Amino acid sequence: MSLNDYKQRNPTYLITGGAGFIGSHLAEALLAKGCRVLVIDNLSTGSLENIRHLLDRPDFHFAYSDIANEMVLDRLASEADVIVHLAAAVGVKLVVENPVHTIQTNIMGTEKVLETAHRYQAKVVIASTSEVYGKGHSIPFREDDDVVLGPTSRNRWGYAASKMVDEFLALAYYHEKGLPVAIARLFNTVGPRQTGRYGMVIPRFVQQALRGEPLTVYGDGQQSRCFLHVEDAVRALIGLAESPEAIGEVFNVGSQQEISILDLAQQIIDRVGTQGDDRRSEIEVIPYGQAYAPGFEDMQRRFPDISKIEQYLGWKPTRSLDEILEDAIESFQTQNTVVIA
Ligand code: UDP
Repeated sequence: MSLNDYKQRNPTYLITGGAGFIGSHLAEALLAKGCRVLVIDNLSTGSLENIRHLLDRPDFHFAYSDIANEMVLDRLASEADVIVHLAAAVGVKLVVENPVHTIQTNIMGTEKVLETAHRYQAKVVIASTSEVYGKGHSIPFREDDDVVLGPTSRNRWGYAASKMVDEFLALAYYHEKGLPVAIARLFNTVGPRQTGRYGMVIPRFVQQALRGEPLTVYGDGQQSRCFLHVEDAVRALIGLAESPEAIGEVFNVGSQQEISILDLAQQIIDRVGTQGDDRRSEIEVIPYGQAYAPGFEDMQRRFPDISKIEQYLGWKPTRSLDEILEDAIESFQTQNTVVIA
């Protein structure tokens, strides 16, 4: 087999943010396919625990570094055929509380990754977010919809705007410099290893229910979301990385199984409540201004049109909300057992 054949079959991936929730699942899936995986992560929201089981593998390499460290990024990118750029400030809570960090990390980080990828002509998959749809009302959200953001006085929209700049930059590198890029707009993604520390609703509710504490529903709970299992998200990212047709395109990656946050809370209470614990959580409704910051604006609905990625890759979500909740509850139960033991 020639070196080129080998590289085509066993490409080297660099995952920025590879010790994070999605990144660590992506690393596992790529290793299982026979790829070599390099990870760069500053462990700010990621965790060594997420990748500890991979550290001894010869086909896995972890660099504990910020993507702002150009020397480290350059060395890793020089070995990569594909870069999946996941390193970013994530989580509404984190984003609202640290706006400078959010905007700097997202915009400057992505610029560094694209510039470095261009030096080595590595393909780049950029993880964007459904936040870029902002306050749009045209359900379902389509990739070419107009974007409606709130005012600059609300930190949340700074996150959306920073991810929009990432998309503009990536597409600019494609059109102007010929860099092969594909963009994934990830909708709410859930699975084992996701932490509730940065505001994500399912890990928060599951942990609250397992502790018998009230489930904190923000607003009136009528806002709805569609939750995607991380394994489905990873399959989409790999599909985009492998598809020549995806280059220069933007894709929604999300589930279409919609649920209101109030119903979600009730379902989690019912599931955890039937697991033998006599403490049963209640629902506590908390105004947005108290949960985040005065004047906080939420998105009422977030429902993706996924016909584009289905058409390009044949991709569809495979895991139901039932399975997602089962997995989330089981993973937190296992963690608790380990801590107690
Ligand atoms: N949410 C909630 N209670 C929590 C955390 C979040 O009611 O403890 C709500 C949040 O206001 C939003 C939805 O759950 O309407 C999803 O929040 P998350 O931060 O997971 O993702 P988002 O879709 O806001 O990015």
